[in-house]
Amino acid sequence: MTPSAFSPAVEALGQEMYQLASELFPICRSLTGAGVRQTLQTIGRLIPLRMHEVPSGTAVFDWTVPPEWNIRDAYVADARGHRVVDFNRHNLHVVNYSVPVRARMSRAELDAHLFSLPEKPDWIPYRTAYYERSWGFCLSHRQRLALPEGEYDVVIDSTLEPGHLSYGEYCLPGELPDEILISCHVCHPSLGNDNLSGIALATFLARHVATEPRRYSYRFLFIPGTIGSITWLARNQALVSRIKHGLVLTCVGDAGKPTYKRSRQGSAEIDRAVGHVLRHSGAPFEIQDFIPWGYDERQYCSPGFNLAVGCLMRTPNGRYPEYHTSADDLSLIGPRHLADSFATCAAVLAVLEGNHRCINLNPKCEPQLGRRGLYEAMATAQNARDPQMAMLWVLNLSDGSHSLLDIAERANIPFGLVREAADQLCQHNLLARLTESGEVSQ
Ligand code: ZN
Repeated sequence: MTPSAFSPAVEALGQEMYQLASELFPICRSLTGAGVRQTLQTIGRLIPLRMHEVPSGTAVFDWTVPPEWNIRDAYVADARGHRVVDFNRHNLHVVNYSVPVRARMSRAELDAHLFSLPEKPDWIPYRTAYYERSWGFCLSHRQRLALPEGEYDVVIDSTLEPGHLSYGEYCLPGELPDEILISCHVCHPSLGNDNLSGIALATFLARHVATEPRRYSYRFLFIPGTIGSITWLARNQALVSRIKHGLVLTCVGDAGKPTYKRSRQGSAEIDRAVGHVLRHSGAPFEIQDFIPWGYDERQYCSPGFNLAVGCLMRTPNGRYPEYHTSADDLSLIGPRHLADSFATCAAVLAVLEGNHRCINLNPKCEPQLGRRGLYEAMATAQNARDPQMAMLWVLNLSDGSHSLLDIAERANIPFGLVREAADQLCQHNLLARLTESGEVSQ
């Protein structure tokens, strides 16, 4: 779907997603703590999210749930008491997960704890110290160069204590116990594309799915990156085999073209469904092979699980200069790009939902379509040839072994037309849908 082809409803959704991202932007999120809870509560006003709290120290595979981090204030003040770096001005100023500090030190001592980007002198970098008990401040390079010699008071009013790791989960039952997993991370502070765009899209996708008829059950996860998916997988091993398809959503709000990173399996149904939707979108896109780097797909696709979970992005992590800096703000993402990502996801889910196998009930030579009014039905369509070809392909390949996506791919026709042709043929008793086990469904 090209951006110009949006329905007004999808256009409006883009605005709503952007509004949610704007509301969540100021919150200082981290792996754990009050910022994550506040974020989940805000999402919980839009979808009935179930909150989970996992105690610090819980063993999750080879990892341990970390102590909970909370921060109230942090600053560097000069000798006159003037705050030269202030957490209240931007939450990226403090290295995320910094231990508490209250000290006076020289400019040189302070400098060992400062992080800036000489090549982007106006941007504040985003740094974390999750698993090393350290502290630091991030600031623009210009700001760093302007700090004169002298004594500085350094205060980080944080706590790093036994508490909980929080995550949110929303499950929507469908006809089947088989699940589609949608996962996004909620651990980045004031960053727009990497974090908030994925949260906004997952939230509004969940609302959309809730109003649609569903063959699949759905599970939406709002989790801190890496440790969150590891924790979820460790606590839900018995459920994991239900997950048939999945998407990690991140960096979905910028102006770049859609990028899809395949699952480790490489040609799973989700990989084929996303590829099909993007190929028929009429707009540029990119498809990448799986690599064990990126977001939570690394855990879902670890060999002990090997789930069919890919990652949908626009410009990937690390491939845009604003990535992990204060320039990845609300100006980098836009309602239209969020709407385009939403439309892509909704189209992918429609493929998965409608990807049945059918059986031709009149397989010996072509049935007479004209007698049944099926040629007329096709001729009124906007592009007469594709619907007609879709019908002939569906009849020809519905031998019980080809799915509708197989047929759409082989015919090079958009899935929606193939699905529509199959529905019409079913109505005229020329085709029957097969159940998962291969029986003719009633
Ligand atoms: Zn990130």
